[in-house]
Formats: sequence, C-alpha cells, structure tokens
Amino acid sequence: MTFAATVLTIYPAMFPGPLGLALAGRALAEGRWSLATVDIRDHAEDRHRSVDDTPAGGGPGMVMRADVLARAIDAADGALPRLLMSPRGHRFDQAFACELAEGPGVTLVCGRFEGVDERIIARRDLVEVSVGDYVLSGGEVAALAVLDAVVRLLPGVMGNAASAGEESFTDGLLEHPQYTRPAVWEGLAIPHPLTSGDHARIAAWRRTERERLTKARRPDLIGDR
Ligand code: SAH
Repeated sequence: MTFAATVLTIYPAMFPGPLGLALAGRALAEGRWSLATVDIRDHAEDRHRSVDDTPAGGGPGMVMRADVLARAIDAADGALPRLLMSPRGHRFDQAFACELAEGPGVTLVCGRFEGVDERIIARRDLVEVSVGDYVLSGGEVAALAVLDAVVRLLPGVMGNAASAGEESFTDGLLEHPQYTRPAVWEGLAIPHPLTSGDHARIAAWRRTERERLTKARRPDLIGDR
C-alpha cells in the first residue's frame, strides 16, 4: 500500500524539494509513497487570489481565511489525519512518526502569515502539530520535516531495517557515539570495546553510553519512562 501524503500550501514549488532526493526521493520514485500538493490560492475567489485578510480585533500581519482553506481541504480530499503545522501544537516526535507511518497517509496544512483563522481547526478536524519551540515563517519546512521522519519508516525505504531499531528515541534513549576508520585520527583512538570483536562487550558499551548520554542531555526522556 502506498502512503499518501497531501500538502496544502501557497508555495507548492517547495515540494518535494529535499524529499525528491536521497532515501525519500528514491522511495517516491519507487511508489512507496505519493505526494500531492494543493495550491491554496487555487481556492481563492477574487482576482488577486487572496488567501488572507486582516486580523479581527486588529494587530499586525494577516490571517489565512477559513473559507478558502476549507475549500482547499475539501477539494484535496487527502488521507487522515489532517495536521495543521503550528507552533502551538503537540510536539512532533518519533512515536507520532511511527504511528503515522502505520496509517494510510497524512494531510498537512501549511500556515503562513500570522497563522490561520481558528474556526478551520474545529470544522475540519485539524490536529495542531509543532516541530519545536521556535517560530518558522511558514508550515512548509515543518511539513518537510514531518514527512521526512515518516517516509524513512515506511516498509522497504530504509536500506538496513535494523538501523531503525537502535536509533535515538525509538526505545527512549539517545543513540550511542559512532566511529569508523581510521582507527586513530588526530591522536584519538576508537574506544577499545568497539574494536574488540566481542559482541557482548560491544553491546554493553553501547548501552552504557546511551544511558550516560541520555542522562546528561535529555533527563526528561528517562523521567518519562
Ligand atoms: N503568529 C504565530 C506564528 C505564525 S508562523 C504564533 O505566534 O504562534 C506562520 C506559520 O508557520 C504557522 O501558521 C505555522 O503553519 C508555521 N510554523 C511556524 N512555526 C512552526 C513550528 N514550530 N512548528 C510547526 N509549524 C510552524
């Protein structure tokens, strides 16, 4: 089954963008996922193709209109869930990426300006999703991040399926440090356990490093468990 992604944006030229290259791009060419973009402006009704208007109550900037967005969403008829990229939303994480990857697809609504008219959220069941505590100029880069995280989890996309199991966040720990040749570089040697050939010792070293790093950098991940 092909995972169907639909993106609503006023900048369709931003897609597939980086998702047309590398792992995601190959998977797209192979039909493991599909990408449809909808230009929200195609659903405007005036000759200027306006999608925004001044905020009710005053203040700076512009707000995307609920009626125009609704027409775009209805015409797109994309897979559920429908996510609204929003700095106010639930923080996007690996667990949510896995959940999406197991479903039929996703519809992503990219805000611009000061955001969208609140009424569209309830009327079209939009789930607000944030990619982090910072403000982007639009939802497109956030949508690219969400799709990148999901697509690599689709069946057959990642070359080495095993590499997904030990990654950061998958089991609540950050990844251990990685090394490759040369064995000594600028006076720094690869840690001994990794070159010992002793699989149990390697596994134990990696586990200890993962716990050490997680405790030091992301104690919140351990507290959650
Ligand atoms: N005035 C808004 C920010 C608007 S930024 C506020 O203060 O909350 C314009 C658009 O960029 C948003 O509608 C959203 O779609 C997108 N965006 C900005 N930051 C984001 C983030 N951290 N995660 C997801 N989308 C984001």
